[in-house]
Amino acid sequence: MSMPIRYYSTNRDTDLGGGGKAFRETVSFREALLMGQAPDEGLFMPERIPILSPAAIAALKGRPYVEAAWLVLSGFLAGEVDPDSLRRAVEDAYNFAVPLERVAGTRFVLRLDQGPTASFKDFAARMMARLMGLLRPADKCLNVLVATSGDTGSAVGEAFKGVPGIEVTILYPRDEVSARQRKQLDTIGQNVQAVSIAGKFDDCQNMVKQAFADPSLAELNLTSANSINFGRILPQTIYYFHAYAQLARGEAGEEIVFSVPSGNFGNALGCEYARRMGLPVRMLVMPTNENDEFPRFLATGSYEKVSPSRACLSNAMNVGHPSNLARFFDLYGGTVDRNGSVHRYPDREEMRRRIHSVSITDEETKRTIKRIYETHGVLLEPHGAVGWRGLEDYLEKSGYGGLCVSLETAHPAKFPAEIRELLGIDPELPPSMQGLDARTGEPVLLPADNDVFRTYLWERLKRS
Ligand SMILES: *Cc1c(COP(=O)(O)O)cnc(C)c1O
Repeated sequence: MSMPIRYYSTNRDTDLGGGGKAFRETVSFREALLMGQAPDEGLFMPERIPILSPAAIAALKGRPYVEAAWLVLSGFLAGEVDPDSLRRAVEDAYNFAVPLERVAGTRFVLRLDQGPTASFKDFAARMMARLMGLLRPADKCLNVLVATSGDTGSAVGEAFKGVPGIEVTILYPRDEVSARQRKQLDTIGQNVQAVSIAGKFDDCQNMVKQAFADPSLAELNLTSANSINFGRILPQTIYYFHAYAQLARGEAGEEIVFSVPSGNFGNALGCEYARRMGLPVRMLVMPTNENDEFPRFLATGSYEKVSPSRACLSNAMNVGHPSNLARFFDLYGGTVDRNGSVHRYPDREEMRRRIHSVSITDEETKRTIKRIYETHGVLLEPHGAVGWRGLEDYLEKSGYGGLCVSLETAHPAKFPAEIRELLGIDPELPPSMQGLDARTGEPVLLPADNDVFRTYLWERLKRS
């Protein structure tokens, strides 16, 4: 049997200056999962990527989602997680449907909105929570810290709710989440506390990053569960295999195009890894909203973050410097740090051959929702519409006519006002969202201030 996979930091070769020291060691999956990020503030990357054979992928056809999950995770986690426990965790995490809906011809929407919080983040969060439960130190409480611009937090909170030995703190920007998202976050309860910040998502993300870097909080065993944790990335490779296997006709070398509406780039990174594991992805389409730093980089060759980030309809993608860009750069031979400074540029030509990215305005997003509903009877919400419009852009420019799948990352019922305004209908709530109005719970209110946040964390968690 091969050795367990080791994980390195994206900053390993980087002179950080200012006394920063690059982390040149490697760690196990368990360490990467519990540490969240590397001591040099880089992101963990697997040194080796297991390859799945075309036959193994084809054998997923007609099989339930848990089989794809098992195939992917058992390859990555061999020698790290006991196979029987992993099997149980997979079956427990993926107990909901993963529908593929035909829009027209060979073009499909993959609905990742049937989990407990009706967002694709359930897929990663539920698996990661179970992996942390399996791999946490037996005698210590683990404190999970998350910054969210909307759906991450509730998915993570719900995923960890009631997991013994784990406390969860969720920061969200007070004015950048919808009323429904706020309700979802504030009312999870038990071991999960929401903190409402008077600031932007970037402030929340920075407060979390500062807390991790703060030696005075070391005793608290802080760990991240947002999109920088590799435990969040790994489960996001699974649905690409599942979707391909269900749709492929079984011809040798048959390719697929995925369109992934992108904010922090964790979801798209899952697709990039799936391709490197052997999935025949012809093109990874990564549309963004008006936070257009990445498509601009692909077009011009120079990277400039959008600061402050722009508030768009697809609010879970309001990110001016995607945290997982560091991983994309690394995979293509470059280095960018968490502030958005590029230390080495990646092979942009290679990226352009494999990745198509385009910025979609709010106006185009709305028009797409309306047009796709009226023409095809398929209901999209703003994130899914950005994905679909990005796919159309690729198809127009490339003339490709084969298999393609655009990801619908949230349930349309999460955007009732927009859907009503555009289409004059009230989307039906999925079962997971019914009863939300009756739930109760209050957030803690804090300013965007690192010192205030440090004191709060210390007071709340030191007893645990
Ligand atoms: C988080 C989120 C995205 C963006 O995913 P990233 O992995 O951050 O790129 C898209 N749509 C929805 C609904 C989300 O919650």
